[in-house]
Amino acid sequence: MTGRTTAITGIGELTTNDPGLGLVRDAVVVLQGDRIVWVGHAPVAPAADSVVDVGGRAVLPGWVDSHTHLVVAGDRTAEFEARMAGEPYRAGGIATTVEATRAATDDDLETTLVRHVGEAVRQGTTYLETKTGYGLTVADEVRAARIAARHADEVTYLGAHLVPPGADEESYVDLVCGDMLEAVAPHAGWADVFCERGAFDETQAERIVRAARARGLGVRVHGNQLGHGPGVQVAVRNGAASVDHCTYLSDEDVEALAGSDTVATLLPACDLSTRQPPAPARRLLDAGATVALASNANPGSSYTTSMAFCVATAVLQMGMTVREAVWAATAGGARALRRHPADARAGQTGDGAVGVVRAGARADLHVLDAPSATHLAYRPGVPLTWAVWRAGTRVV
Ligand SMILES: [Zn+2]
Repeated sequence: MTGRTTAITGIGELTTNDPGLGLVRDAVVVLQGDRIVWVGHAPVAPAADSVVDVGGRAVLPGWVDSHTHLVVAGDRTAEFEARMAGEPYRAGGIATTVEATRAATDDDLETTLVRHVGEAVRQGTTYLETKTGYGLTVADEVRAARIAARHADEVTYLGAHLVPPGADEESYVDLVCGDMLEAVAPHAGWADVFCERGAFDETQAERIVRAARARGLGVRVHGNQLGHGPGVQVAVRNGAASVDHCTYLSDEDVEALAGSDTVATLLPACDLSTRQPPAPARRLLDAGATVALASNANPGSSYTTSMAFCVATAVLQMGMTVREAVWAATAGGARALRRHPADARAGQTGDGAVGVVRAGARADLHVLDAPSATHLAYRPGVPLTWAVWRAGTRVV
């Protein structure tokens, strides 16, 4: 590694998510290029070319938002309003966004995506996944994946979001596993399927996941959002990196997750915005499952890019401790994207890993205007982001 070094000094409380370093008080982090090169206690810190003193503030890894849907057009304010007046949330609402997204120009889609990614970054998100899934034709899904790849860190193919209105179910599944997969795969690292009543059933989901794996994509599943169902079992059985939502879990589901590498990604802002009960975070954690938190930012069921809001909600409503929630929104997201130091994808030395603060990891840091990360839940709704470094560049 060459180039100038920058030392972030005066860190009152540093959350590293590194088992060896833990929580460090009076800490210094040294950055070089897009990497962290040194982490430790101030008295033994090496000299650096430049210094940024954060004045006793708390520092944590940037948020890793492992679940968003941001290649979108249109507005679902009216649907939200109706839901708040008592209408239930249904998977079919996705069709509204599909119609608007197909009608949008490439420029419109890109402008909207850039605006939302910028909004997320200003709130401390430094690594972001986004999905296709509002195109649902070969051309529209390829277009979404291409645009996503220009601005998101990870791209997921979600042709299996919904059977588009008017299409025959089985022929659509054939398309998702066939021509559409072939066309989108070069632009995506992941494939996802919405396994839920009103979307894709167990047999269809299983077929889609297997086809994507055979094509070399990592897999993830939307499951158990609107009721009990087979999503978790399909995910675990097929080695999915994560199963997202997990609002309704049986004891068998919790057990399967605890005994697997599949991360349970909880989406507290979505549960709240659809007036579902909160996902059973405590049961999952107590059983030993790996839990991630993500925003599920999308205009239908969870229109927020705020990971701090998700953390506060997870603590205040789902029984997670602040430390568990912060870990889940950083290192947990990294695990769900297989970018944690424990994952082979990040390299054996954790080179370029995200969600952690340690030498070799990507220089993604979030400085809070608070003395401790506890303030994220203690002061809910207050914008606490004071500075952000993304891949070594200060962006806030
Ligand atoms: Zn989603």
